[in-house]
Amino acid sequence: MKAFRDPRATAKKSLGQHFLNDSHILHKIAELARPPEGSGLIEVGPGTGNLTARLLALFADDAPAPMCAIERDERMIELIAERFHGRVPVISGDAAVMDWQALLAQPQMGPRPVVVGNLPYYAAMHILFAVAQAPKPPFRMVFMLQREVADRLVALPSTPAYGQISVKLQLICDIKLALKVGPGAFSPPPKVDSAVVVLTPLAAPRFEAAPSAQFSRIVSAGFAQRRKTVVNSLLSTLPLQSAEIQKALAELGLDPRIRGEALTLKQWAVLSLLLDGLLRQK
Ligand code: SAH
Repeated sequence: MKAFRDPRATAKKSLGQHFLNDSHILHKIAELARPPEGSGLIEVGPGTGNLTARLLALFADDAPAPMCAIERDERMIELIAERFHGRVPVISGDAAVMDWQALLAQPQMGPRPVVVGNLPYYAAMHILFAVAQAPKPPFRMVFMLQREVADRLVALPSTPAYGQISVKLQLICDIKLALKVGPGAFSPPPKVDSAVVVLTPLAAPRFEAAPSAQFSRIVSAGFAQRRKTVVNSLLSTLPLQSAEIQKALAELGLDPRIRGEALTLKQWAVLSLLLDGLLRQK
């Protein structure tokens, strides 16, 4: 498939526009994003539509495709309408603040929708969390991300890349790094390496933990000051006493001087339950 050229398609840096031109990678992403029979697809940031074309090809071309896209750039919305003759409805707006609950519940999306996109890197984490933390998340997410962010998503405890996004997302999703992608696959090439990540939301959190918003608050606090002990980091934003947190760590059999990055996902889950109990008493 030849890349689509249009003078309106000049990349806007401020919107993180790096158009994917590598045919092999476009094909692979579309295959990873193939939704289960009877379900649909939502594409984030279709841009000029190179990935959109591959996604559309996953569906029979006689029926209306169970697909829609979300795009922030009005020029691109116009391009997509022309290129696909209105077959892919585009919703104008910022994917980081969309009502994902409503988008995923559209009837044509079926029971197990997939969300896919070569994300704009400036907003990638916000978009990822908005989708993954929807009350009823999609069946699967396939996202092109900055390589460094992808590494953080799959990082294991006590490694440099392990942090709050690893813990928050690994609790609720199965995460796989599917494909490493160099800058040359894009036009214009980004300054960083990229990777395609597949996230599969779990039916229930991997370990029993504090309710989602509270878990996020506790993990954010625990990693807020990476150079400090987890006790001091938690104390800097949560209304708790040092002795209370130390007691919770002792219940987990952990050293009071441990740092947040040394706690496993399961330990974060149990700690969140204990701290949530304390916070509720305040
Ligand atoms: N999928 C295309 C374009 C990727 S570039 C391709 O692979 O060629 C990222 C795209 O996301 C751009 O089209 C950009 O306009 C769009 N975008 C930027 N910020 C956005 C946001 N907050 N919400 C939705 N789309 C956004």
